[in-house]
Amino acid sequence: MNSKAIITSALPYANGEIHLGHVASTYLPADVTTRFLKQKGVEAYYICASDDFGTPILIQSEKEGKTPEEYVEYWNKRDAEDFAAFNIEFDFFYRTSSPENKEFVQYVFKKLENAGHIYENDIIQFYCNNDKKFLPDRYVIGICPYCKSEEQYSDLCEKCGRVPEEIENPHCSICGQPPVKEKTSHYFFKLKNFSEKLSQYLEENQNLQKDVKKYVQNWIKEGLTDWDITRDISWGIPVPIDGMNDKVFYGWFDNHLAYISSAVKFLNDNGKDGKKFWNES
Ligand SMILES: [Zn+2]
Ligand SMILES: [Zn+2]
Repeated sequence: MNSKAIITSALPYANGEIHLGHVASTYLPADVTTRFLKQKGVEAYYICASDDFGTPILIQSEKEGKTPEEYVEYWNKRDAEDFAAFNIEFDFFYRTSSPENKEFVQYVFKKLENAGHIYENDIIQFYCNNDKKFLPDRYVIGICPYCKSEEQYSDLCEKCGRVPEEIENPHCSICGQPPVKEKTSHYFFKLKNFSEKLSQYLEENQNLQKDVKKYVQNWIKEGLTDWDITRDISWGIPVPIDGMNDKVFYGWFDNHLAYISSAVKFLNDNGKDGKKFWNES
């Protein structure tokens, strides 16, 4: 058995209460695993964080008249208290909006860019002339093109669970006006470049569940699509490029990197070489 281990579990999105389903499916198994490893003499740490960015949080904070910083601070504290009440014992519970994660995400983006895995492309995006802002993801509400349910988000129909290609009868979720379409420049991650490496990883890894493996292998077979990793909103980690500072990274680009940035901070703060420990664990 490896003498060092870092255990993580899915980051709770900082916009609502933890419920029993979260605890049973995600946090309790990881907590049990950590306790078991510690009893076996493994130097094990359970690291988690609140997932602080994204349009659902920004929209909700605007509705409640709070800044997004205030909004996620409340939920980060509340989640930590609820987990503690359940005796879920994180060694460290941090946040994706930490200065350490910001620095790490920008570093990873630069590395990917220098390696040729990032490109810029113009896209057409909904824009509200009334609110004077772009309307990504949840900022647009309309009719689901598949099941015809009304008042559904442009990035997810909560009735049928599908992601609409293009929402019908779109309107701004803030003011209700129909949006116009505007051109904006975004950064894309060349996911395709990693098809072969991912296939090899899936093939060789003995610890993955078979059906999960199949599921992801099918995605790769169908052809991975490049991924729009930026958004024209104010709440997020700024894109570290001159002239692009009004854009931020999509939450799914920054949040998984918080496992590493949070673990490394915790380890460094406790007198260890965080990077070395992460790579050895
Ligand atoms: Zn639908
Ligand atoms: Zn509007």
